[in-house]
Amino acid sequence: MELILYNTKTKKKEKFEPINKNEVGFYSCGPTVYNYAHLGNMRTYIFNDILYRTLVSAGYRVKHVINITDVGHLTDDGDQGDDKMEEGAKREGKTVEEIAQYYTDEFKKDWNKLNLHKPQVWCKATEHINEMQKMIGKLERNGFTYQSGGNVYFDTSKFKDYTKFAKLKLENLESSSRVEQDDNKRNFSDFVLWFTLGNSKFGSSHSMKWDSPWGIGYPGWHIECSAMSMKYLGEQFDIHTGGIDHINVHHTNEIAQSEASTNKKPWVKYWLHGNFLVLKDGKMSKSSGDFLRVDLLEKKGYDPLVFRYFCLNTHYRKELSFSWDAIENSKLGFEKLKTKIIEIKKMNNQYNDKNNNQSIEKSKEYENLFFESVFDDLNVPKSLGIMWNLINDKEISDDNKFKTLLKFDEILGLRFNEMKEEILDLPVEVIDLLEKRKKSRMEKNWEESDKYRDEIKELGFLVKDNGLDQLVDKI
Ligand code: AMP
Ligand code: ZN
Repeated sequence: MELILYNTKTKKKEKFEPINKNEVGFYSCGPTVYNYAHLGNMRTYIFNDILYRTLVSAGYRVKHVINITDVGHLTDDGDQGDDKMEEGAKREGKTVEEIAQYYTDEFKKDWNKLNLHKPQVWCKATEHINEMQKMIGKLERNGFTYQSGGNVYFDTSKFKDYTKFAKLKLENLESSSRVEQDDNKRNFSDFVLWFTLGNSKFGSSHSMKWDSPWGIGYPGWHIECSAMSMKYLGEQFDIHTGGIDHINVHHTNEIAQSEASTNKKPWVKYWLHGNFLVLKDGKMSKSSGDFLRVDLLEKKGYDPLVFRYFCLNTHYRKELSFSWDAIENSKLGFEKLKTKIIEIKKMNNQYNDKNNNQSIEKSKEYENLFFESVFDDLNVPKSLGIMWNLINDKEISDDNKFKTLLKFDEILGLRFNEMKEEILDLPVEVIDLLEKRKKSRMEKNWEESDKYRDEIKELGFLVKDNGLDQLVDKI
């Protein structure tokens, strides 16, 4: 089956053909670990996860690299403000290292709760300063840099295609910019590769610093992704992802410096961007004080997979609105799905009567449709519709249904295989009555069995029968 992906670089859907047959090099911009990740960030990583699972199911050996930004990301993506990590440390009265470690651990906890795959490489910016300095050296030798006010800048006017990726209109950007300008820059869009300390504007109190050919200091934000992705995936690789907020500045700068360092070798073949999770009053962001995160969902009694299911119901290139009502709706949908899966699993253990050719063929048809839409630029919302049609199709045996659903779950990651009835804490009296009732049912003494059912009901529990199994719910 052909895999089609929307490429931000060409602004159209394209057939996916990796540089090396059967292998995919895949890089994602990771979190800046100065605070918890919010649900918007996690939406982007859910989209990354679906892409990864799709590539694996298409038969590719995937190497997924994701970075942890623990230095150099200033409060404004265009190199203004303070370093977010230093700000986080000040806010909490801790060292930058403590802040980075704590929020990285918290991020990975959320990652696991959402059942995201384990990437092949997690890489930390502060552990790759050497690679970044080497790349800055190359850019210097290739004539793309200048030093000003102590810092090293990338001269965007030297990179002819600078505006191409994001279709930027530099004049408009400049006039609409709300941030104070850095007078050291020759062009508005130039960006810092290396900050040196002693350059008062960028904080001589900066605690993270390294020696360098340009003076003691720290790297600019963008250089880390170019240096680390090339270290782990080579000078050219297949896929790079991030949220749409990165298109205009971060990814535009990553492309400029990467291609300038390798003498204009095309760097990344396919760029994919996930759209935002928004609140009523705009994009969800970390800087907006209180923000929503996985932990809050749990505190309110939601399984984190409800949020995953919520995200899967909207295509990754569409904006998604967050509200508690919408999450509640997803919870109902997810619970219904869970009940169906558990029922199918149960029947699967007992009845195999419809496990004939027609049932197998029909489930195969659903499987083709499901994967066709996943392979069409990750149209998972459509695939979910197909999944529901399969679940409700009476002509397919539960055995075939369950086997097919497990294949779907390799993409969906909703843990179908682990779904089971919540274990109710049943009072001993109810357990006693259930045992007696089971005995009377085996003896086909229906009158007595009904009497026990009523007694159980009086104790606040409802019994449903499934073969000889008795399923119990709280009333
Ligand atoms: P950050 O930790 O801010 O560097 O962001 C981590 C990832 O989350 C990046 O890929 C961002 O593009 C993405 N992101 C940030 N805000 C949102 C949002 N509201 N919705 C979806 N993705 C987001
Ligand atoms: Zn990046």
